[in-house]
Amino acid sequence: NSGLSIKDLKVEYKGGQLALGHVELTLPEHGIYTIIGPSGSGKSTLLRAIAGLLPSYTGELLFNGKSVHAKETLIGLVPQNYGLLPWKTVQANIGIAMKISHPEGLHKQEQEVQIKHWLTSMGIAELAGRYPLSLSGGQQQRVAIARAFAILPTILLLDEPFSALDAITRETLQELFLDNWLANPATTLFVTHDVEEAILLGQKVIIMPSNKEEMPEIVDNHSVFQ
Ligand code: ADP
Ligand code: ADP
Repeated sequence: NSGLSIKDLKVEYKGGQLALGHVELTLPEHGIYTIIGPSGSGKSTLLRAIAGLLPSYTGELLFNGKSVHAKETLIGLVPQNYGLLPWKTVQANIGIAMKISHPEGLHKQEQEVQIKHWLTSMGIAELAGRYPLSLSGGQQQRVAIARAFAILPTILLLDEPFSALDAITRETLQELFLDNWLANPATTLFVTHDVEEAILLGQKVIIMPSNKEEMPEIVDNHSVFQ
């Protein structure tokens, strides 16, 4: 019963586009699970379903036996386009996310300390006062990841977070992400189109089929964490 359990998930978009046909996945808590598969195989849709961003789906999405959308499950999402609020500074973007982890609110000073911690953890303390659109893609990605961790998520969802970055930036962010994850080991679904990255970061690799009649395949990956 523990961990993330997806039962017979099917998603059809308005207009009849079948995005996911029949997804069954059982994933133990506190792992990083990478998701690969061809374009259109429903990787983003799977994350959106768990994030609660779809108007409808059929099937069950459970975390530790309860709906993933129950209030005790906090979900951090790093969407493909970063999803930062452009009219808020970097620190305000993190502060807003912290309201999810601290619904009772934090004292101003404590909040500032925490924001600084999350920004420092992604190597961007000096960007606190900047606005997202004045930042590079890699910097925005760091903010988006810091924000997702600031939620103190039980489930963390990342949609191709490093795909638009140059190789050196990608490696740096992979390392910062892993350090943060080890300190906050949420149950993590990580979509990537890069097979090497999937193998580097995932304890299991989920392969989404292009044929929606088929189920995703889960491959145990022993190359990491040992
Ligand atoms: P992937 O992330 O693997 O590329 P997606 O989840 O984006 O796959 O898409 C799965 C299928 O659903 C594709 O055929 C795509 O065109 C379709 N789709 C995705 N989003 C929408 C949407 N908002 N409305 C209609 N169809 C969509
Ligand atoms: P991804 O594969 O990560 O979803 P896409 O480029 O396929 O990226 O989709 C970008 C945006 O367009 C998404 O918000 C998705 O919901 C939407 N989209 C994708 N396919 C369709 C579609 N067939 N009809 C309508 N919207 C779509």
